This record gives sequence, structure tokens and C-alpha cells, in this order.
Amino acid sequence: MSILDRNHDKREDQVSDYLKENGFAVLPPTTYHEQIKEPQLKKLLGFRFTPTTQYMRAEADRKAIHMETTAAFLWEIKANYKPNLGDLFIEMMPLVYHLGTASLGVRCLMVVFEAISGDSAKSFGFWVKDLPTPKEIVIPARWRNQVAQHGNKHAEYKNIATLAFPGVYINDHPSDFSWRGSGDPYVVLAQKDIDGMCDWRELIQEEIRTQRGGLCPECKSTYTHILDGYFLSQPPEKQLCEKCRPVPAVALEDAMALYAAHDRKR
Ligand SMILES: [Zn+2]
Repeated sequence: MSILDRNHDKREDQVSDYLKENGFAVLPPTTYHEQIKEPQLKKLLGFRFTPTTQYMRAEADRKAIHMETTAAFLWEIKANYKPNLGDLFIEMMPLVYHLGTASLGVRCLMVVFEAISGDSAKSFGFWVKDLPTPKEIVIPARWRNQVAQHGNKHAEYKNIATLAFPGVYINDHPSDFSWRGSGDPYVVLAQKDIDGMCDWRELIQEEIRTQRGGLCPECKSTYTHILDGYFLSQPPEKQLCEKCRPVPAVALEDAMALYAAHDRKR
């Protein structure tokens, strides 16, 4: 999260509300900004620059779990400071961690808003696993000045950039440093690559459509109610859809007991 984006909380609420309206449970925020109340400790973590402390800071903002389908993903809000959604700058280290977990199958949705106030701000989304090849990686000049204080950060982060984005140009002598970022190394996505990206709401709808629970053994329709008590109380061959059920749904706690009893019999 960029601490400089004044609209961040509002955008986060907007996405959170949309998710809830569409059947998701949205877990409370887990970033260090929210978790750590003690200001000194927050500063301590905020000003340490090692891959480990950056990992601690980089945890994806939010988590969403759909109540009826198997859709579940991490999500994060990003601000685009260029007018009309020009080239997009994203902090490198959080993206590197997200790419790592994405390669292991973890879904992470990036929602990008134009950094202006009001409802006219344009937005789009993309899954981290579908990240286009960046135009370049920028390692700001200040990282060169940290050699004495923190070890050779410049070489360390250049190495990480090379590993995570093989073949991508690493700009370690940037002349222009006017964008309002955190000052950490960042990835530049070209405007032409983000221009064709979907509305984030479409991506969420597609996720709900495609992440179904399973097939009803009776009518063969796709099954969605995987979280209710009836489902848990039945063995797989009797996990019927809502229409085919012989009995109304039972409470979740009763279902857990039934399920445990059934499990013992097997
Ligand atoms: Zn059925």
C-alpha cells in the first residue's frame, strides 16, 4: 500500500463493499499499518530495509473468501499517479513476494485506481499471475547511498530484480524521481500493457462463475452451497444441490456433529 495515497481507505471500502454484495466474506486488514499500534515499533519496521522486513511489510492488504463457491483470493489496492492511467509504478518487493506465492497457486488480485478523488477515477484489475512483462525496474538513487549504513542494498536489490524479472531492463540511474512513491525499488508496467486490462468487477464475477464447489450427484448441476450444514452432514455421494435435497438444511453445528458421527462409522 502506498502511504501517500489519500484515497486508499475509500477505495478499499469500495472494493470491500462490492465483494460483500457478491457473497464474499472479507477478512479484517492484516498489514503492519493496522496490526502494529505502537508508533515506535511501526517506525522500526517501516525503516528497516532488508528482504525480510520488506516481506513483513508487504503482506497483501486483504483477503476474500466466497461463502458459496470455492473462490478465495488475496487482494490489494494500488494507486496510479499518472493521469489517464499512464505507465503504472508498483513497489517491487511486494510484487516479487506475490509473484512467488502466485507461482504456487495463490490467487492475488490487484485493483488499480487512478489517484484522484471522486467516483470518476478510472480503475481496472489484474491477477498477479497474469502480470505483463514490466517495461523496466527502477532502483532509486538513494539505495546507492545506503551502502555504508545497511550493507550493499543496491547490489542486493538489483540481484533480486534480475532473479524475479529475467531479461527486464534495470534502471539503476534514474534521473527523474518526481512520482510520489515510497522511494523503494519499483516496477514499471507500460501503459499499452495495462490499457487492455479488465474492470476488476468483471474479474471477480468470473472468479465466482468459475470456482464452483462441484457437481450434484443427482441432477449434475454445479454445486455452490458448500458451506452449509447439509453439505457437511453428508458423505460425498449424497452431497446434493439445494433443489435435490430431501431435507432442509441443518444448522452448521448440528452438521458438524453429524459429520463427525458419520466419520467415526467409516
Ligand atoms: Zn441436484
